[in-house]
Amino acid sequence: MRVTSAADFLPPELTLAALREAVEGCRGCPLWACANHAVLGEGPEDAAVMLVGEQPGNEEDLTGRPFVGPAGRLLDRALAEVGLDRTEVYVTNAVKHFRSEPRGKRRIHKKPGQEHIDACRPWLDAEIAVVRPAVIVCLGATAARALLGDAFRVTRARGTFVPSPLAPHVLATVHPSAVLRAPDSAARRLAYEQFVSDLGRVAERVRGLVEAG
Ligand code: SF4
Repeated sequence: MRVTSAADFLPPELTLAALREAVEGCRGCPLWACANHAVLGEGPEDAAVMLVGEQPGNEEDLTGRPFVGPAGRLLDRALAEVGLDRTEVYVTNAVKHFRSEPRGKRRIHKKPGQEHIDACRPWLDAEIAVVRPAVIVCLGATAARALLGDAFRVTRARGTFVPSPLAPHVLATVHPSAVLRAPDSAARRLAYEQFVSDLGRVAERVRGLVEAG
């Protein structure tokens, strides 16, 4: 039987611990076959902020932890700059297994297809249901399309809170790997400043929520 969704692999009890254990056994799409680990999100179960990226990268696949590679380190630095502590936010991805293609001895990132994003969606929905974040931040076009629909364009609407049934406050910005991919140091600096500015809006919103009680 060809399985086309992760839904059949969700645990009966929705807790982060149960999801983490169950996701390693997911066969909801073919991506599991070429990866070392399924990478569920990481962070407190009651986090106010959930950050959603695209998929694990090489280091994430090897360690089984999200955002631990170069993009994750840039994200940590940007979060710290706006006063958000990485250990207090929940970070995850739209797709839980690394999609890659071999290039010599290396594995090169390959964008997940819509079919992988759709198949994997039950895991992200389960994480949102457990954490119930006040703020969701989509990092990059894949996460934004997955959560905000095909018509959403990060280039046009980044840094702006948009209405969504998923959480009271939802915003999209670029993926930190896009900052790293900027063509030269000046472009990288500008991309980083814009990224920090978007995250600054998130931090401001969180502080407002805390003050409002
Ligand atoms: S990518 Fe998602 S749906 Fe596909 S096997 Fe991995 S966890 Fe399951």
